[in-house]
Amino acid sequence: MQLIDSHCHLDFSEFDSDRNAILAQCQHLNIHHILLPAVTRETWSKLIATCKQYPQLHPTLGLHPMFMDKHQAEDIAALNQAVIRHNPIAIGEIGLDFYLPDHNKPAQKTLFKQQLEIAQTHKLPVLLHIRKAHDDALKLLRETRVSGGIVHAFNGSLQQAENYIKLGFLFGIGGAITHPRATKLRQRVKDLPLSSLALETDSPDMPLFERPGRNSPTYLPEILSCLAELRNESIGRIAQVTTHNVQHLWKEDSPLID
Ligand SMILES: [Zn+2]
Repeated sequence: MQLIDSHCHLDFSEFDSDRNAILAQCQHLNIHHILLPAVTRETWSKLIATCKQYPQLHPTLGLHPMFMDKHQAEDIAALNQAVIRHNPIAIGEIGLDFYLPDHNKPAQKTLFKQQLEIAQTHKLPVLLHIRKAHDDALKLLRETRVSGGIVHAFNGSLQQAENYIKLGFLFGIGGAITHPRATKLRQRVKDLPLSSLALETDSPDMPLFERPGRNSPTYLPEILSCLAELRNESIGRIAQVTTHNVQHLWKEDSPLID
């Protein structure tokens, strides 16, 4: 069995004291690859340096919509340069967050579109963060086609899911499904096709129900077994298909095959 954590902020300072130990444990748990989404320009260099230290970590670069106050207009040109220089495996995490209070829709849309254009130019998939904005995101994704990607922590409707699937997207399934009261989400992950699912932890955020506090990629097998139980499918099959789904985003050039 081989697992991939498709969304994990292992570069964050929360992991500075025990990153080595966590990664040793991941190896033991068959977590072969971990994708690291970026949040702001100032975090890129540590993220890249962290990924260079460990071959199982894969960098993505981007400007997260939750940090609009930190982004500058020149960050887009800097992103393009950083992509050329560091060759990340995706652009992320990018998107639209209309759940935030006082959000500026036009500014978020502009930033998202500019980053989709960079992904398109470099033929890279994208890691998406979308809250309360799936229809706007889908419209922008139709206008600027990219090589698919993963919609992290998807919580939209089945119809929206179908539209993402048509555009080559997977859905990141994380610790939120372990919360007994998340009935809508737990139903949703039963209804989505297995061929569109990916596993993720979003560590250190989004803790599992029975694991309050700092989330960790080492909890990925618990998300896997919860998903298997909800879908009434075997752990082995869910592991195999979700791993294949993520590997296939990069087709034959996949950096995630070993
Ligand atoms: Zn994230």
